[in-house]
Amino acid sequence: MQEILRIAVQKSGRLYEGSMKLLKECGIEISNGNNQLRVTAANFPVEVFFLRDDDIPEYVQDAVADIGFVGENVVTESNKQTDSIEKLGFGKCRLSIAVPKNGNMQTVSDLEGKKIATSYPFILSNFLEERNITASIHEISGSVEIAPKIGLADAICDLVSSGSTLFTNELKEIETILSSEAVLISNKELSVNKKIILESLLFRIRSVKKARNNKYVLLNAPNDKLDTICSLLPGMKSPTILPLAESGWSSVHSVISESDFWNVIEKLKAAGAQGILIIPIEKMIV
Ligand code: ATP
Ligand code: ZN
Repeated sequence: MQEILRIAVQKSGRLYEGSMKLLKECGIEISNGNNQLRVTAANFPVEVFFLRDDDIPEYVQDAVADIGFVGENVVTESNKQTDSIEKLGFGKCRLSIAVPKNGNMQTVSDLEGKKIATSYPFILSNFLEERNITASIHEISGSVEIAPKIGLADAICDLVSSGSTLFTNELKEIETILSSEAVLISNKELSVNKKIILESLLFRIRSVKKARNNKYVLLNAPNDKLDTICSLLPGMKSPTILPLAESGWSSVHSVISESDFWNVIEKLKAAGAQGILIIPIEKMIV
């Protein structure tokens, strides 16, 4: 019987969409129409378990699942024995300390002797110890941001992405303790066959991530400007150049990274490129 790789993903919440989208883009067909706890993929040897995100590190450690998609914040806080294999590029947030906007605390040293509310007592206590700060930690499991207002704590340590929740609750961030995104974690003792399936899945994930970070560019250029234009396009190897029907002109094809995108496009236009087309890349195998 062929072995199957069991993947734990969040059942519902902020990581659900990103996890399902990634599996789909990896060509793995999962239907979770009936809100089931576990679903076997139709066309790849994986089975997906839908769980609470907090339980995922423990299940992976204990080999109930082989791998999991979960936030680095949860992996660090849970302190379980798993391997973090690959960052997944979604679920980005940071764990920060925030204090009342109009209070007199400004830096972490002002937390000395204070009470801090958090759902991350392990990460917070390590941080305070590193900074030689003695403060009391008040563990709560949700709505941490209201703790100062209702007099439950002087400060909070909580997840932030846009900062709008802090703003609404009249809090300001004074320090980031941890930057986080979803990661693929693995059990430390996978069988040889499971490792083979994982390698194949990782190959797909890396191709999807690369494709998301790059765009395909097509443009027309006068032949006497080709050298300048090509020097602006790093590409995977070198740009493809094809003659256009109109003499003296060529079509140039290349790949540019999302991060230099606008910068490069402006330079290409200035160098004489015309009819620039930007196309998303579905998969990128290098
Ligand atoms: P569960 O019911 O599975 O326990 P939850 O309420 O603990 O869900 P969510 O709020 O869905 O969790 O967040 C899941 C993960 O999404 C977080 O652990 C974190 O890694 C990531 N995340 C990204 N942005 C944010 C944010 N602004 N606030 C909270 N979590 C965020
Ligand atoms: Zn949770």
